[in-house]
Amino acid sequence: MSADDQIVIVGAGLAGLQIAESLRAAGYAGAVTLLGDEQHLPYHRPPLSKAWLAGEIGAEQLQMRAPEALARKNITLRTDCTVARIDTAAQTVALTNGELLHYSGLALTTGASPRALPLTGGDAPGVLALRSRDDAGNIASRLAACVDNAWPVVVIGGGFVGLEVAATARKKGLSVTALEAAPRLLSRVLAPVLSDWYAALHREHGVQLLLDAQVQAIETVDAAGSPPLLVRMRDGSAYPAGLVVVGIGVVANDGLAQAAGIACERGIVVDACSRTSAPHVVAAGDCTARRLPDGSLLRLESVQNATEQGKSAAAALLGQERPLIATPWFWSDQYDKKLQTAGLSSGADQWVVRGDMVGGSFSVFHLRGGKLLAVDSINATKDHLLARKLLDAGVSPTATQAMDGELDLALMLRTDM
Ligand SMILES: Cc1cc2nc3c(=O)[nH]c(=O)nc-3n(C[C@H](O)[C@H](O)[C@H](O)COP(=O)(O)OP(=O)(O)OC[C@H]3O[C@@H](n4cnc5c(N)ncnc54)[C@H](O)[C@@H]3O)c2cc1C
Repeated sequence: MSADDQIVIVGAGLAGLQIAESLRAAGYAGAVTLLGDEQHLPYHRPPLSKAWLAGEIGAEQLQMRAPEALARKNITLRTDCTVARIDTAAQTVALTNGELLHYSGLALTTGASPRALPLTGGDAPGVLALRSRDDAGNIASRLAACVDNAWPVVVIGGGFVGLEVAATARKKGLSVTALEAAPRLLSRVLAPVLSDWYAALHREHGVQLLLDAQVQAIETVDAAGSPPLLVRMRDGSAYPAGLVVVGIGVVANDGLAQAAGIACERGIVVDACSRTSAPHVVAAGDCTARRLPDGSLLRLESVQNATEQGKSAAAALLGQERPLIATPWFWSDQYDKKLQTAGLSSGADQWVVRGDMVGGSFSVFHLRGGKLLAVDSINATKDHLLARKLLDAGVSPTATQAMDGELDLALMLRTDM
């Protein structure tokens, strides 16, 4: 180690913290500096739309690590600290306060930002997206005002975050309208059978769900006693709201990398080891797009991806190769239903259901050419854990076997038979 050994990590979220801790776990003894532009210590985002927003857990349960735990590992965390520029030739990062930090290794873990609603009124007060703790705080205050005034809530976008907020608002007894522009919910990530199941679930819980819904504008209403917003649709209909939550996806925060000449394409392009196109620079988490062996790019926004890419990135900074090979997984909680996905279902040519769809505990197996690609499980954690093992082992049940609830698929993993 030389006195110059200094790894700088830009972005103090899940991926950034993972890199810092993995470096220490691997015995790295140089300086590790974690820079985050938020005022908070690193925190968990998933509960922001679920348990925290519902008031079921407190703010302290969002925090990933106590400051003492970071200090013990000799990780320097600087919050409220924004990186303005990177110079990959000089190996420096410039902060917005003018400070210049030298790095021997740099990690970019800048996350993603909500896509803005490109419509008149899309930035009106009370029209809010959910990414950060501060966003969640603003949404929670507005939800409380909706409860106090019996104002309805409108959710624009039928993706996971929007639907989780819709479910949470229903738990609070609010009237909720969810507007999805596509013909089905979660169409980018789920098979039609599950989109339909989710639509039915939300309707059963009292959400007014509109598909193929084209929003034209959001108007501000200034009339005593009426909700302050009106969501105007292209067909002329309109929905009053005390709060409009916009969940129409995110864009990777790759501006710093782009300006530094690092290859970006829908995110910072990384290889399986989280290396970017620049020497000594790695990237991990929601800000990345991973180049796959077939040349295509994979963008994932999940806890598992940020964690696993973070581990690979730390290894790469230490000159080691730890390619990311883990089967992707993800979860979402809506009402009393837990979705757990394993694998990636895009490209599937066949899917079958195992379990009890009506009773709400089942799994959808996705296959292509008879090969298992992915399994999406609802309240079926045993199936999910097994699916991950099958996918890791490259073992595919046939469609008939997958559908047969009496057949123990775990037997397929046994090598002694
Ligand atoms: C409401 C919500 C619910 C979710 N639910 C689930 C779920 O159920 N399951 C699941 O698997 N995933 C879920 N996710 C996704 C998951 O939380 C993300 O994939 C994960 O947090 C990504 O971690 P990250 O470190 O890449 O990015 P982030 O956690 O976004 O961290 C990036 C940090 O970098 C900071 N930053 C950006 N630019 C700069 C700069 N120039 N200087 C300094 N700092 C900077 C950002 O402000 C941010 O703090 C959810 C996300 C949200 C928002």
